Amino acid sequence: MTAVHVPGTPLIEDGRLLSTNPATGVEAGRLPVASPADVEAAVARARSASGWWAGLDVAGRRERLLRWRARLASRIEELAELVHVEGGKPVAEAVVEVVTAVEHVDWAARNAKRVLGPRRVRSRLMLAEFAAHLEYQPYGVIGVIGPWNYPVFTPIGSIAYALAAGNAVVLKPSEYTPAVGQWLVDSFAEVVHEEPVFTAVHGLGDVGAALCRSGVDKVAFTGSTATGRKVMAACAESLTPVLIEAGGKDAMIVDTDANLDAAAEAAVWGGLTNAGQTCIGIERVYAVEGVFDGFVDRVVQRAERLTVGADGTDIGPITMPSQLEVIRRHIDDALARGGRAVLGGADAVQPPYVQPTVLVDVPEDSVAVREETFGPTLTINRVRDVDEAVARTNALRYGLGGSVFGRRRAMAVAQRLRSGMASVNSALTFAGMSTLPFGGVGNSGFGRIHGADGLREFARPKAITRRRARSLLPATTFDRTDADVARLVKLVKLFYGR
Ligand code: NDP
Repeated sequence: MTAVHVPGTPLIEDGRLLSTNPATGVEAGRLPVASPADVEAAVARARSASGWWAGLDVAGRRERLLRWRARLASRIEELAELVHVEGGKPVAEAVVEVVTAVEHVDWAARNAKRVLGPRRVRSRLMLAEFAAHLEYQPYGVIGVIGPWNYPVFTPIGSIAYALAAGNAVVLKPSEYTPAVGQWLVDSFAEVVHEEPVFTAVHGLGDVGAALCRSGVDKVAFTGSTATGRKVMAACAESLTPVLIEAGGKDAMIVDTDANLDAAAEAAVWGGLTNAGQTCIGIERVYAVEGVFDGFVDRVVQRAERLTVGADGTDIGPITMPSQLEVIRRHIDDALARGGRAVLGGADAVQPPYVQPTVLVDVPEDSVAVREETFGPTLTINRVRDVDEAVARTNALRYGLGGSVFGRRRAMAVAQRLRSGMASVNSALTFAGMSTLPFGGVGNSGFGRIHGADGLREFARPKAITRRRARSLLPATTFDRTDADVARLVKLVKLFYGR
């Protein structure tokens, strides 16, 4: 008996990886599966290309990256359509994703020189006879392993910054979105055709594992916390450094002085955009007692208007069919343990779709509050005050982003969140701010993409001291005398001893 193919589930046929649309089952891409030898060969090609790429001056890389940016910008609709066809994401959401990625390519290209370029740094009194020089040198080859939920924006957050820093990149796209990954590679090759500076290898998780063991100089992984652990373990074998961008369970806090309409609008978009399949998506909300009912009413009014379906809707299908069971389990568990569905609920999961679901008064120890749901669902719980909201928000091991709505205390509350990012009176906006670093704490990972920290993540600091005068107080030589040492002690006591 042949197994029935569930639309959206990747297939391997005759050594090719097939991706299909999760709503229609229509084929989106067919890419050759890489063997371990193919992965090694790709990294070897990238290694030789990296020499050429690093050897270009910064202006040469900048000019090519800006041409790639222009190529992406001029073909937004085409790429958004492919994202829609392959992963099911509504076209408008895919457009926003591509636009955000374009902004990151632009910023990384324009700022690499300023952030990474050679500079003199100050000497201190102790070694005043030496000049200090700092620069950031590329690693060589970066292996980028990407997820399916933002197949353009997320890998580009690593790829653009790694390329701008002077590295070559080998991408392993998610098995659910290989065609989008290949599209990125092909569009780059149209502007940089001299050397294979940015290439892709396709296949299932074992291809990602092979990339970790292929001798790349650093791995930038974005995906689930569980896979992140495997990636780290594989990289540990060869001390290959890793950047881990993992899952989240981001919260929104709604304070008593919040604009409730704006908060509801942001909660619905931040929680339900991309059918809730967003690492920094709002999954839980804590609203302070006095505003709880008014906030929940507004959320329901907005969320019940959203349309669900394959084309031209607000909410598309769940990209990874196996996630439907996770979403169903979270909703069922929340309801079984005393939570109430004020929208959607028990029958919300209608494969391949999930109807918008808002759950209130959900026990804090239920899976719907503690684990990543990755569906168009929100839990909203009431809290006494913002202190309780912060305590509950920070109670999980995840710590990616977060959102705070309010006036007087909002900034201070955002600063207290145990997370890498936060937005005040909006949701998710830090992801598009190319000047700001992006990354998590705890189970959400470590390391940063985006911004100056994101550029530095893909470069090694190189520190050089250069003698500019004779040492008056020789210390780092066997030629020093007892008198030199005594003078040294006297000097240190004089300057640092009080
Ligand atoms: P997975 O962890 O399942 O997969 C991520 C990538 O790792 C895929 O390309 C996958 O390949 C590959 N992979 C699987 N097994 C291995 C292995 N043993 N060694 C190396 N690579 C492997 O995550 P998803 O694709 O399901 O993505 C969703 C997750 O990503 C969510 O948890 C989400 O929160 C998180 N995410 C985090 C972001 C952030 O910036 N912090 C941004 C976006 C998403 P294959 O698909 O072929 O199995």
